[in-house]
Amino acid sequence: MTDIQRRLTDIQAQLPTDVKLVAVSKYHPAEAIEQAYISGARLFGESRAQELVVKHQVLAEDIEWHFIGHLQPNKVKYIAPFVSLIHAVDSLKLLREIDKQAHRCDRIIPCLLQLHVAEEETKFGLTLSECHELLSGGEWRDLHHVQIVGLMCMATNTDDENRIRHDFRMAYDFYRKVKQEFFNDTVAFRFRSWGMSGDFQIAIEEGSNMVRIGSSIFGDRSY
Ligand SMILES: *Cc1c(COP(=O)(O)O)cnc(C)c1O
Repeated sequence: MTDIQRRLTDIQAQLPTDVKLVAVSKYHPAEAIEQAYISGARLFGESRAQELVVKHQVLAEDIEWHFIGHLQPNKVKYIAPFVSLIHAVDSLKLLREIDKQAHRCDRIIPCLLQLHVAEEETKFGLTLSECHELLSGGEWRDLHHVQIVGLMCMATNTDDENRIRHDFRMAYDFYRKVKQEFFNDTVAFRFRSWGMSGDFQIAIEEGSNMVRIGSSIFGDRSY
């Protein structure tokens, strides 16, 4: 067993069965992904469109590729033919572009809306009120080639567990609110994508059912 395989197995053993693991393979070579694949991982997360396209071309066809980073509208066309889930949609403009490119590929692309709940001002994402406004606006209902299937967020980058818990809890409370208000009869709206290497246990305690874990599986990356 390689280090990657050992660490992956170790993480998998810590996850409840209803929590999906997205193995975040950004900046790691295809060989690293192959090792995780051999150990059973099928969901991989990438944050650069060009890198994702190349990896998709060379790796196994049954991999589900998730785009987890900030996505520029002009890059959507490269990943639209095959991406399984786009995690960080933070504007109507981006949602419209995904809809347009998905239409061209004759696909419906599942998306998560990214919430900004962290303390830092530099992070991307919609504030809770911006997200609520986007949903209340209703235009998303007319975009038939995207499907909003949940929410995503990142907690404040801190060692303060209480702050991290507070951020995730805010996201989960908001999730329940919008689920009831806008998606009550939509089973597809069910994903809470929060938790990374440093905070996934807290995230799961605070309602996450999709964790995005990179360095704890693949080791450090240089960027
Ligand atoms: C890189 C990244 C992760 C994984 O972070 P680790 O700390 O390496 O687990 C998760 N989510 C997003 C959005 C990322 O960009």
